[in-house]
Amino acid sequence: MIKSHPSEAMLNSFVSGTLSPALSLIVATHIDMCPRCQHIVSELEQELAEQMLATPANLGSADSQMMLEAIFNSQEPVIEQSSEADNESAGLITLEGKQFHLPRALARQRDRIGPWNKMVGKLWRAPLNLSTEETTNLIYMAEHSGVPEHTHKGMEATLVINGRFNDEFDSYTDGDFILLDGSRQHTPQTSDEDCLTLAVMDQPLHFTSGLSRLLNPFSSIFFR
Ligand SMILES: [Zn+2]
Repeated sequence: MIKSHPSEAMLNSFVSGTLSPALSLIVATHIDMCPRCQHIVSELEQELAEQMLATPANLGSADSQMMLEAIFNSQEPVIEQSSEADNESAGLITLEGKQFHLPRALARQRDRIGPWNKMVGKLWRAPLNLSTEETTNLIYMAEHSGVPEHTHKGMEATLVINGRFNDEFDSYTDGDFILLDGSRQHTPQTSDEDCLTLAVMDQPLHFTSGLSRLLNPFSSIFFR
């Protein structure tokens, strides 16, 4: 059961197309996994379409005419119910002999997923090349592993694709979306279950405790 969702303001920005490509991807992937947000987004889309139709001035301009046509003739809506075809191999990735099924929005970006690199501990990382200012990575934490305690100078958005991790605040599982800013420090860890996440960062991590301070250069491993 998903308990942590993007804010309604963020969903609004998603619908109106004002999120960066990286945030748009992570929110779209959450929506693929989340019936609650699918419902909210379809209502927001309908409101937006109605607002445009209700404003005669909008209908006059060529721009809005094109936008309306795009909305109503869209061949590939951003939000689609998943289908049997999703289970095709296109959406599967393999790591450490395990297979993970990528949600539809992420599977579409499969060609942009770079090679897996093993990092310190039992962490793996694969970058996503989205031509955007933020850094986007798939991060895999094996069982009983973790990322050293850190704060964020900027924001970090994390989505659990598969598995479970914990930090000081809570425990997160498939579909949970977590947005942190520089005011909170946390230590993501797995226990008996491994965890695959999608993470978007706009600044390097800043490690805060003990020996992990020595690892601060390591933050560049995440942030590149
Ligand atoms: Zn949701």
